[in-house]
Amino acid sequence: MSPPGERSVGMHKADIGLHDVGFAYPGAPALMRGVSLSVAEGEMLAVLGPNGSGKTTLLRLLAGRLRAAFGRIEVCGMDPVRADRRAFAREVAVVGPQPELGFTYTVVEVVLMGRAPHLDGFRLETDADLAAADRAMRATGIGHLAERRFDALSSGERQRVSVARALAQEPRVLLLDEPAAHLDIKQQIVLHETLRMLREQRGLTIISVLHDLNIAALYFDRVALMRDGELFACGTPEATITYENVRTVFDTDVYVDLNDLTGKLNVLPLPTKRQ
Ligand code: ADP
Repeated sequence: MSPPGERSVGMHKADIGLHDVGFAYPGAPALMRGVSLSVAEGEMLAVLGPNGSGKTTLLRLLAGRLRAAFGRIEVCGMDPVRADRRAFAREVAVVGPQPELGFTYTVVEVVLMGRAPHLDGFRLETDADLAAADRAMRATGIGHLAERRFDALSSGERQRVSVARALAQEPRVLLLDEPAAHLDIKQQIVLHETLRMLREQRGLTIISVLHDLNIAALYFDRVALMRDGELFACGTPEATITYENVRTVFDTDVYVDLNDLTGKLNVLPLPTKRQ
């Protein structure tokens, strides 16, 4: 029997494969049961689960920032830990959970940092690099902030700059850790519609750690539900974000329904004490 999450990827070659991958921090087993999962080129996967269930660890393993204790990981045909860092960064961009502080650079300078893997040595940016940065800023709606100092922006603005920097990298794979954490409702929609558009136009493969079950259901092809360091379930939002699964994984009652307007799931948390 296939492990949960494994599936035939048909004509598309798998962009990302985790084969029985495990990891432990010193004194803290993070993913000890072995996670197996394939993500096809152009697919959008949301990783959901309670705090401490291993989502960020999974993303760090895919980004090559942690070395698996066992198992095998492949991203765009590369082993994330052994791959040449520049070659890996030309294919894979990462947006972390906390927009970094301490950059005294302007927004456009931060976005241009995304071009570094494409530059030879100390060569200055070309018109093509500037155009890529411009496209990324327009896609994330931060053009008006271009000359502002990064460290003088709000958390939500910094988060959009971090996404723009990753888009300027023009990767094939985008790994996002709570990219909408500081965004207002409109910016959450703008971000996810931009991701969908990039997937349609460029076949970008996207893995995003999220907390919002409704956003996951609205925009993602599949969701991976993590629980206690293992992959509890993986499949379409409709098959995976069920009352039973959410109850088991999050220890929370929700009301799940299909929305007539969107044809997608609506997930409504229920109070523990009904009034
Ligand atoms: P999530 O992203 O789902 O909140 P994490 O992947 O961050 O979960 O964490 C999984 C487990 O690993 C948790 O038990 C957490 O306490 C532990 N952990 C995370 N980072 C570290 C670290 N740097 N050192 C030790 N333990 C860690």
